[in-house]
Amino acid sequence: MEKALARVRAGEDDPPCRSCGGILKSATVSFGQQLVPEVIDRAMQASAEADLFLSVGTSLQVYPIAGAVQIAKRAGARLVIVNAEPTPFDELAEAVFNESISQVLPKLLA
Ligand SMILES: [Zn+2]
Repeated sequence: MEKALARVRAGEDDPPCRSCGGILKSATVSFGQQLVPEVIDRAMQASAEADLFLSVGTSLQVYPIAGAVQIAKRAGARLVIVNAEPTPFDELAEAVFNESISQVLPKLLA
């Protein structure tokens, strides 16, 4: 990923794979792909230990990861949701931004 990001910084908007010309993709999971149990376990553990749970770009309607919000809230974390559409957890959130992620995130992190 670091090499791909370096290519973006060097001016390529969407650098293709140098071997096959295909799309380069970070280590994300798409619908229909298997979840990695160890990763889910780590996410749940991190949720239980978080002071702030920042949910970005998810409808929070798919489990098991939607359950991470409940774990974090139960453990006392503050919840901030950034998503175009409302989520079932908006009522529990300290702040909800139904706006563009690319506009909201830089402001939140500043
Ligand atoms: Zn390739």
